[in-house]
Amino acid sequence: MRYYSTRNRGETFSFAEAAIAGLAPDGGLFIPEEIPQYPAAVKTSLGTMDFCDIAFETIKLYVKDDIPGAVLADIVHSAYPFGAPLVAVDSMLALELFHGPTAAFKDFGARFMARVFAYIRRGEDKPLRILVATSGDTGGAVADGFFDVPGIFVTVLYPKGRVTPLQEKQIAGLGKNICALAVEGSFDDCQRLVKAALADNDLRKKTALSSANSINICRLIPQASYYTAAAGRALAGITDPDGDATPRAGGKGGQSGGGNQPAGKGAAGCGPVTLCVPSGNFGNLTAGLYAMKMGAPVKQFIAATNVNKTVPDYLDSGEYLERITQATISNAMDVGAPSNFERMAAHFSWEQMRQAILGVWVPDEDTREAIKRVYSEEGYFLDPHSAVAWKGIEKLKAENKTGEGPVGILCTAHPAKFSEVVEPLIGAVPVPASLERAMDRKVNSKTIPPETAALLEELR
Ligand SMILES: *Cc1c(COP(=O)(O)O)cnc(C)c1O
Repeated sequence: MRYYSTRNRGETFSFAEAAIAGLAPDGGLFIPEEIPQYPAAVKTSLGTMDFCDIAFETIKLYVKDDIPGAVLADIVHSAYPFGAPLVAVDSMLALELFHGPTAAFKDFGARFMARVFAYIRRGEDKPLRILVATSGDTGGAVADGFFDVPGIFVTVLYPKGRVTPLQEKQIAGLGKNICALAVEGSFDDCQRLVKAALADNDLRKKTALSSANSINICRLIPQASYYTAAAGRALAGITDPDGDATPRAGGKGGQSGGGNQPAGKGAAGCGPVTLCVPSGNFGNLTAGLYAMKMGAPVKQFIAATNVNKTVPDYLDSGEYLERITQATISNAMDVGAPSNFERMAAHFSWEQMRQAILGVWVPDEDTREAIKRVYSEEGYFLDPHSAVAWKGIEKLKAENKTGEGPVGILCTAHPAKFSEVVEPLIGAVPVPASLERAMDRKVNSKTIPPETAALLEELR
């Protein structure tokens, strides 16, 4: 499989080249030259396959020229000991993507990427320096994924005072090969500094540099796996028992015990699933579109955003108008100019996107209402991002826009990660063990002004 830039189909790259480069030399995003198909034997056994086996079958098709099968199998098993349970919450399916160490779905991309980088760079003696700008969740996932990986150093830039205390501990509490810089400015300043450093020729001569932001194809591909896993289970009418960190109040209809369980009566149903994806930069939804194209039994996607509704508006009108970002309570989705849109548009026309995706947006007051109601009626704790997805489905149902078949939401973060928003609405949220460990860490970061020279100084 070769890769090319969204802006130039003339030159192709290997997976390894695309992964290490991150962004194409012309500023475009890397895309595979074609979206591969699952073999028939895989498609017919999805409902009963283990998550790691589905991840292996998915990723293999994209990386087989660069990563031998036995190595990929090791990578997948070491990256994903936690899986992606599909649990029933009344008649809704919840695809829980927060069972990893930083309690958000970004663990799926970051943990794979760290292992792939270590493999690709085996035998190199020049260390690799990875720069990443974060508004909160990405930094923690990347820091955790790359922690203690030999030969790789990570510098995370985050806006000082604008991430939650827990996020800051996830970013700046690890130490060793992870260096945290608190930038006196905004997320946009952090991004600007990273771009400037990556383009600095003096620095490039001395150090091998890379970046780990969410447009890296290496983070996107593994995310297709959980869509396929969830769609396979929904088709077969199978849901999983609650995981260790499933945020469900005791005695409220939770499923416990081991083994697969058939969906409760009227709960999931069987058939191709409609999945609602709470979206910001649209990497997650793009991975879903890949899975669908590969043959995963997804009926349709719903792209749910907060008030930063650039893509729902585009689906409506066919006109793409970037907006100025507005702050909301689902802040990991506060993106007015989603960077993965360029990738979606390179693969699909407006008509094709409208066939595959329904757009919807949800204001903060409705998000809060959904968190409260789902807790009081179902005993299930939603984080603000997952609540946007829940409410988004309800809105479209009320307008008769969703059809038959099971429906599900992607739960992109554990509610305890956003306790500042959730607890005033519904009280104490159960905290998973991984977050408890992170809360015990001490922040060790250095504050820098929002100037390129200050970052370059740190990197020398
Ligand atoms: C990053 C993030 C999102 C948005 O995902 P995109 O791939 O950028 O659309 C949604 N929810 C949470 C919790 C996130 O951290």
